[in-house]
Amino acid sequence: MLNFTVGPVMASDEVRAIGAEQVPYFRTAEFSAIMKENEQLMKQFAKASDDARTVFITGSGTASMEAVVMNVFTPADKVLVVNGGSFGHRFVQLCEIHEIPHTEIKLEMGTPLTAEDLKPYEGQGYTGFLVNLHETSTGVLYDIQMISDFCHRNHIFLAVDSISSFLADPFNMKELGVNVMITGSQKALACPPGISVIILDTEAIKRVEANKVKSMYFDLKDALKNGERGQTPFTPAVGTLLQIHARLKEIERNGGVESENQRMKMLAEDFRNKIKDLPFTIVSQSMSNAVTPLHPQNASAYDIFLKLKDEYGIWVCPNGGDMAEKVFRVGHLGNLSPEDNTRLVDALKDMQAKGLL
Ligand SMILES: *Cc1c(COP(=O)(O)O)cnc(C)c1O
Repeated sequence: MLNFTVGPVMASDEVRAIGAEQVPYFRTAEFSAIMKENEQLMKQFAKASDDARTVFITGSGTASMEAVVMNVFTPADKVLVVNGGSFGHRFVQLCEIHEIPHTEIKLEMGTPLTAEDLKPYEGQGYTGFLVNLHETSTGVLYDIQMISDFCHRNHIFLAVDSISSFLADPFNMKELGVNVMITGSQKALACPPGISVIILDTEAIKRVEANKVKSMYFDLKDALKNGERGQTPFTPAVGTLLQIHARLKEIERNGGVESENQRMKMLAEDFRNKIKDLPFTIVSQSMSNAVTPLHPQNASAYDIFLKLKDEYGIWVCPNGGDMAEKVFRVGHLGNLSPEDNTRLVDALKDMQAKGLL
């Protein structure tokens, strides 16, 4: 199998080997020590401040998106939500469900957020901002520095879903003044799905402590309290947390988050160079190192996805909804190499020779 989707992605041999082991009991000093180290390394790689905290939620990325919306905002807030695709839309839905007053900044598919888009909201009393740093559905990476400046100027609490951007693109939580960030186990962390991660700065922790959340599982106060001793309130995905530990240590050994950023940048550029002569248009105007979104000029994107999967054993990521026939995405997340890129490009060239592209 060769997997270029945006998650789950290819895992390293070390991470996979842990998946074959028995899952240990977890209310132990040994597991607590591993969890403490997971918290520390996550903070280090997100460049969070020393007094920030990390919470591990057993649930996919959306579970942490929901937990964040419920725990840091209340009906007294007034939140701006960037909606540039299906993940932005998800934040809008979460605000609706949890009755958080919000205004949607709706963008055209595949277009970045501009200073012009933000201008009408200057000095309008907004208290919160929700954005998916990399809108994975369209492959647009937003200008986080511009968003950060806007929030800083307007004293707005900034919550960032960096689920598919974490480790792929440079990010400095402290310098950017990001109050909460979210990621998930199955993207660049390259582990099985099942765990999502929330990093909270002191401002976010204050909001959590002051909030009365109507949920048992998603009450982050409880998670923060248990986290002090390296534990979680309920049985977590223990095996996945051990895999995350191995992966974080692997990144640390290989030079840390900067090296991982560089590696993914190299992979993305290598792929983009290798497809230059193929009949594709790159559709995003502002790309992450995580994904290349491609529009085939003469063929159905969904057919290409199916052919690659069924005839070549290679997975790319189909788009949903209106875009299914027009766009597919090639991920650069996880345990991939330039040789893997060549295998994919050779398969595409073979399809072209057969008149299928
Ligand atoms: C993958 C992803 C999510 C989480 O989706 P789940 O299926 O719940 O893990 C959220 N936001 C973005 C930007 C993503 O790429």
